[in-house]
Amino acid sequence: MSEPPRDAPGGREPVPMVGPLEGIAGSPGIVVAVALVLEQGKGSVPRRTILSSEKEAELGRFRDAVEEAQFQIGEVHGRVADALPEEHLKILEAYQSMLGDPNLAQAVHDEVVVKGRNAEWAVEVALQGILRQFDALDDPYLRERRHDVEFVGERLMRALVTAQPVVVPPKAGFPTPRPIRRATPPLGVIVQAPTVVVARDLSPADTAAMVRDPIVGFVTEVGTRTSHTSIMARALEIPAVVGVTGIRGHVRTGDLIVVDGLRGQVWVRPSPDVIARARARGERFASRTQVLRSRHREPATLSCGTRISLLANVELPAEAILALEHGAEGIGLYRTEFLYIDRKELPTEDEQYELFRNIVQLAAPRPVTLRTFDLGNDKLATKVPVPDEANPALGTRAVRLALREPELFSVQLRAMARAAAHGDVRVMIPMVSNLEEIRAVRKLLDRALADLVAQGKPHRKPALGVMIEVPSAAICADLFAREADFFSLGTNDLVQYALAADRGSHELARLASSFDPSILRLIRMTAKAATDADIPVSVCGAMASDPLAAVLLVGMGVRSLSMEAAAIVEIKEALRRFSLEECEGLAAECRALATAAEVEMALAESVAPRLSDLLGGEDLTIPPPFVRA
Ligand code: PEP
Ligand code: MG
Repeated sequence: MSEPPRDAPGGREPVPMVGPLEGIAGSPGIVVAVALVLEQGKGSVPRRTILSSEKEAELGRFRDAVEEAQFQIGEVHGRVADALPEEHLKILEAYQSMLGDPNLAQAVHDEVVVKGRNAEWAVEVALQGILRQFDALDDPYLRERRHDVEFVGERLMRALVTAQPVVVPPKAGFPTPRPIRRATPPLGVIVQAPTVVVARDLSPADTAAMVRDPIVGFVTEVGTRTSHTSIMARALEIPAVVGVTGIRGHVRTGDLIVVDGLRGQVWVRPSPDVIARARARGERFASRTQVLRSRHREPATLSCGTRISLLANVELPAEAILALEHGAEGIGLYRTEFLYIDRKELPTEDEQYELFRNIVQLAAPRPVTLRTFDLGNDKLATKVPVPDEANPALGTRAVRLALREPELFSVQLRAMARAAAHGDVRVMIPMVSNLEEIRAVRKLLDRALADLVAQGKPHRKPALGVMIEVPSAAICADLFAREADFFSLGTNDLVQYALAADRGSHELARLASSFDPSILRLIRMTAKAATDADIPVSVCGAMASDPLAAVLLVGMGVRSLSMEAAAIVEIKEALRRFSLEECEGLAAECRALATAAEVEMALAESVAPRLSDLLGGEDLTIPPPFVRA
């Protein structure tokens, strides 16, 4: 990565502004904050010179981190004491004493007190000093021990990092969500000021882990609107711009940065004028959102009175509360795979049951659609083995993995059936590509129900539906409709698989358009098959949260849309401005067009003008092509 020039020789010339850098609008909102640039695959330690008045607090943080790391190693020791030979246990004990080594404490003390460095920086320097001593040793055995120092150092750094609070707060009466994000500090950093994370890419687990107060924006070099960084950012209501090629060559940790998640633009070291405009736009966006939110209780109806159901997509359990506060009429997609990611142990049946039950009770009498785990591809869990495959997106993912691991899958099915005893639970299977998969899952579900009967555990048979997100499923939707209780169109994957375009590739973002005629046809086929068979059909991909697309989807026969909670009020407002007749007329017009660009242009001409305030208003306007994949 090339560093931008900083100080001119002999002086401290200001480094010029860079921007706007163009990317893809991943999550709406506008922020101005300090950048934190992450190195790929390795945590970067922020270095900060501290004030004299902070020294004691930094030393306190170091002491707390030592205690925490010792406690964690002690816990491991306790857990494995019976299973490991004595010499291995001795290593753990040695780690604990290394942490308490007065030489380490002295080195950190000097770095903090004499050199005025923050705790992370001080620990980093102190550890490097110890490692250098190991490197200088002649004894190869002792030299090898440097790994132990590295291990201990990493523990210590993690303990410093994870001393951060979790932001999404549990509400009264709601169970504390599992601290999935506290377990792994993928960033390896600690942040104290409102911060925009700049990275090449962020995995779903990384993004989930960033539910920390000071993180107010994301910028990544790769990704699209439907990649998981964007999905998670929208769920967390954090502005994000993705697919900004080469951003890390322009920005360094500590630079001021403007993230415009509406236009998909980024400024680095913005001028006072750019900052002022960004702040003003950000405030207008926030107040517009507030006005819309104040109307969250109003029902979603078209101007002609036709009712449309708007539900929420949820990734983390605590989001369910937020969803209902935004006026969601239920949970249309709960991505349960996040329960498995970033965990040392698999979630048990009881644990999953408790969690599902809480969400079901919270939402009752509204429906909750629990999607069985969609693991594999980019969503990996340490405890769920996935075969090593050349094309993981086309590999053993979602229902394919579930059917390969029937015991593991049955644990989840039993938990879901037990939760169904408490409300309207629907179970949804991801990535179904043929009818046999539905039959196999139904068989496993029946067996799970029989097991629950035998065990005397209260339960109820949930409706069993499928995600239509593979083209073969849309093409055979009429056949599937005979055996599935409902459909939900996963347009993110449907676009990826129908157009053979990686959903995370910003290079292909234009190609992977939800408005491609092939996608409109697949959606129409699915909606028609569902209507003919009299089963419900919804859309839960990102297309549902796009105001222009929502109008079109309704025109194609969809009456239920599920999206990130924050988008609900906006979509509700958009739908109010159109009658069913208008939506259907628009859909008929669009279906006759030959390219995605033509469809986008038609929407830009006949729908966008009526939604201009929602699409941003005068200076919040999203430039054409109004909607990105
Ligand atoms: C989709 O593919 O559209 C979808 C909703 O599922 P996910 O984004 O979790 O793959
Ligand atoms: Mg999908």
